[in-house]
Amino acid sequence: MPEILANNPERIQGRDALRSNIAAARAIALTVKSTLGPKGMDKMIVDQAGNITITNDGVTILKEMQIEHPAAKMLVEVAKTQENKVGDGTTTAVIIAGELLSQAEGLIDQGIHPSIIIRAYAQAEEFAQRRLISFSKPIENRNTLHQIATTAMTGKGIERYKEHLASLLIDALDHVRTQESLNQENIKLELEVGPTTEKSELIVGIILDKERVHPSMPSKIENAKILLVDIPLEVRSTDIDAKIQLSDPKQLQQFLEHEEQHLKSITTNIIQSGATVVICQRGIDDLAQYYLAKANILALRRVKKSDMELLEKSTNAKICSSLKDLTTAILGSASTVEERLIGETKMVVVSGCPNAKAITILLRAPTPQNAQECKRACTDALGDICAAINDKRMLPGAGATEIHLALALEEFAKTQSGRNQLAIQAYAKALESIPHTLAQNAGLDAMDSMTALKAAHQNGLSTLGINTQPSTYTQAANQINQMSNSNLLLNTEQEGIFEPLSIKTVALASATQVAEMILRIDDIILGKPKENTNNSFKLD
Ligand code: ADP
Ligand code: MG
Repeated sequence: MPEILANNPERIQGRDALRSNIAAARAIALTVKSTLGPKGMDKMIVDQAGNITITNDGVTILKEMQIEHPAAKMLVEVAKTQENKVGDGTTTAVIIAGELLSQAEGLIDQGIHPSIIIRAYAQAEEFAQRRLISFSKPIENRNTLHQIATTAMTGKGIERYKEHLASLLIDALDHVRTQESLNQENIKLELEVGPTTEKSELIVGIILDKERVHPSMPSKIENAKILLVDIPLEVRSTDIDAKIQLSDPKQLQQFLEHEEQHLKSITTNIIQSGATVVICQRGIDDLAQYYLAKANILALRRVKKSDMELLEKSTNAKICSSLKDLTTAILGSASTVEERLIGETKMVVVSGCPNAKAITILLRAPTPQNAQECKRACTDALGDICAAINDKRMLPGAGATEIHLALALEEFAKTQSGRNQLAIQAYAKALESIPHTLAQNAGLDAMDSMTALKAAHQNGLSTLGINTQPSTYTQAANQINQMSNSNLLLNTEQEGIFEPLSIKTVALASATQVAEMILRIDDIILGKPKENTNNSFKLD
């Protein structure tokens, strides 16, 4: 065939292209596989500047890794989609995608054309999605939400504290939630390196990364009346350079006195309004600081606009842009405004606001790495709780849902003919990789666990999942002992291992879609370099 491309660029065609892509995608799945589940291991990622991240969060690992292969990058996108849509289940989605491709490779080796596999995978996904909905159960109460949060935190570095953290997250959501929406964005996760995670707490209100402007101001005000101002509390400097010629030293004195008078009248206005806390978006003159301090007022300056707006919402204050408008009516309130030492820094906490629309969860952990991992685990759990509230439905975890789907797909495959049947069976096998990996990561004989799990589900025990700690869960084990003569399984209902429905629906949809997309490619061509972009594509 004549070469139609300039400069004979790198190009891989047909089966080789497919194999190269599948190998890259599988390699990605393999990287995160060992982190799945309660006994998953962590990864240590060191960037070029020597910063260390220790995590077992699928999407974090993939985002931090330097990935070059285009198909591998497509798998990273699956994790990102999962993260953006539901916030958790990223490792699961990537493992399923990798496994779908692995299975597809086996089918291609048997001479089945990728287009047949693509069609069968789509059919299998549709069946599985319907089955997910019928297998799901309604979320009954708050306790179930708590269990969904603890399931998300199982296996993370902060697992010991999951009960406490789950309560904090649910309480925080209660504060920001209205009938119409969840307002998850009003929850701020702040980190403090120092004491233990057990001491993590919920701060109803807003943390301002500021200190009071004058050391003789009170550091704590109860029943605070808060004034928010967005103009400087200082004598304005003129926009143009002006020179004032004084002919007499007295004039200088008068000039300074006039300035002083001006500042005094500003502060008198403030004091008379009854404000006990002044939060200013701009600067506060030294002299004004002095007068405010003398009147026992706590003042902050150069507060961020976004924080001012948050304060306006939660304290019921109106931001004041002209001190002439200053009346008691525009003041906001909070039960306490207090300067506190958070970590190494002094910050001001405004708490007990009438509209507690904003809330901060102060996460404490002994090292910066722990703190970051704690934040990631809480973000995942928060995503799960929100998904659960939206979905109102949940599924059993510990591989119970995946094995249920796999067995149902096996049955469905029997109704299909020939190659289609094989490809649907391959889809089922790919789903089995989740319970299989959970067992494998716990150091168990995955074959034994899988045999027990399948037997239990075939006998109608559809809430059973992989027991990653066979020495515990004895209650569940006793029940199952009669069934499968082993304690390799646990009862997800008894142990409270639940996940929101959308974690699984999104994972299946995006994993299937990326597998189909990769299977459709039969040619990898190195494109023209785009201006100003660093084309890092390499073929191996
Ligand atoms: P992902 O990034 O996919 O959320 P995780 O490492 O968080 O990965 O692991 C989630 C998996 O761990 C889910 O399949 C979930 O059902 C399972 N899991 C959670 N808690 C338990 C438990 N106590 N026993 C067994 N499996 C569990
Ligand atoms: Mg998770």
